[in-house]
Amino acid sequence: MSEHVTIIGAGIVGICTAISLLEKGFEVVLIDRDGPAEGASHGNAGVVSPWTCVPQSTPGIWRGIPKWVLNPDGPVALRWGYIPKFIPWALKFLAAGKEDRLPEIADAMLALNRPNVDLYRQLLNGTGQEHLIVDSMYVHVFRNPAAVDLKKLVWRLREERGVPLQLAGPDELADIEPALSDNFKAAVLLNGQARARDPGGVGKALAHKAEQMGANFNRCSVNHIQPGTDGGWIIHTDNGEINAEKLVIAAGAWSARLLAPLGFKLPLEAERGYHLVFKNPGVVVNNSIMDSDAKFVASSMNAGVRCAGTAEFAGLDAPPDYRRARTFIRLAKNLFPKINTDEPIEWMGSRPSFPDSLPCLGKVSGEENLFCAFGHSHYGFGMAPNTGRVVAEVVSGSSPNIKMAPYKIDRFT
Ligand SMILES: Cc1cc2nc3c(=O)[nH]c(=O)nc-3n(C[C@H](O)[C@H](O)[C@H](O)COP(=O)(O)OP(=O)(O)OC[C@H]3O[C@@H](n4cnc5c(N)ncnc54)[C@H](O)[C@@H]3O)c2cc1C
Repeated sequence: MSEHVTIIGAGIVGICTAISLLEKGFEVVLIDRDGPAEGASHGNAGVVSPWTCVPQSTPGIWRGIPKWVLNPDGPVALRWGYIPKFIPWALKFLAAGKEDRLPEIADAMLALNRPNVDLYRQLLNGTGQEHLIVDSMYVHVFRNPAAVDLKKLVWRLREERGVPLQLAGPDELADIEPALSDNFKAAVLLNGQARARDPGGVGKALAHKAEQMGANFNRCSVNHIQPGTDGGWIIHTDNGEINAEKLVIAAGAWSARLLAPLGFKLPLEAERGYHLVFKNPGVVVNNSIMDSDAKFVASSMNAGVRCAGTAEFAGLDAPPDYRRARTFIRLAKNLFPKINTDEPIEWMGSRPSFPDSLPCLGKVSGEENLFCAFGHSHYGFGMAPNTGRVVAEVVSGSSPNIKMAPYKIDRFT
């Protein structure tokens, strides 16, 4: 008889975990209060980089923070009333960025990301939605060529791990991205990546695949979880109780709330990001473009050109402040002078962010039949396929082929 696994959260992480578990012969139930891939997984920038290994916190990052926070168009926003709750997380964030911690974090990020392009192609194979993932470069563009210095730590971390970096000057940049403003004089190119033409669409296609493989979707809201007397779990929802033999928490930024009553104090922040989609942009973006000064990503998607980014700290429940999204009108025009920004579509989503940019994966320490798969911060779309594989290995009692220590849930205690 096959074993049952219940997953709370049908974002891209829960969906990829479901498919990996189904492939191993488990019966799977996915619980979500919304449809599949409606959370952070819906509106992200769609970057699928096998090379991602530089965390958000790096030495000296604090120097930029006052300037970013005080600029209304800046990449970081902090609601004043939230400051007391934010400070403990911020201190852990700064501590995670110390130089001696970075090699282990970078290795752990790379280990999760490295196979992501191949895994997405395998996952989408046969769904009819293979076209949603396309080959791409990651083009980090700079106005000031002097700012491009591959000896800087953020580039050295990549080079030391074999990430292929290539420099481009203004002429090459104009060939690669003709719509780009000629104010951009230099770029660092990361080859061999992919990007999604509809990240939410990828999640929905994979959710459909999971359903066809036998997964059941249960649309309800989980209030709390409780250990059962038989070694399993009782899930209390707005639609009654559900019993689970094995339980995976993949509830993105909401995951810490579910574990708090069990005594886990996790520094998981809702790092809220925004996007605008320009439906009739009149320009084409060939790759994922990172504006290295304004710190946002632009990419052509099925729905139009999407500009996505910003980190707003205001807690999980605060209403969106779409002024954060509307800054992309000006920023997009700086990037692509000819872009048509009429009637943009606004969106906000919460990145589930730990201070060290790494997720919690594997067994929940001290608890039987309880597993975690959350906290992928800025990188969850890229990390999801391998997260699914790794977590399915742990659930089935085998050892994943990557070191699990950096993702342990008790690493903050
Ligand atoms: C602006 C922006 C740009 C980004 N760009 C990129 C990028 O280019 N590349 C990249 O790799 N990553 C990117 N990310 C990060 C990425 O989107 C996230 O890390 C990833 O989507 C997290 O996936 P998840 O499945 O863990 O969470 P989610 O997608 O948020 O899913 C969690 C699910 O759990 C459900 N849930 C939570 N609590 C409950 C409950 N109590 N009961 C029932 N259901 C519940 C929610 O409804 C939700 O559907 C970006 C994020 C943002 C915001």
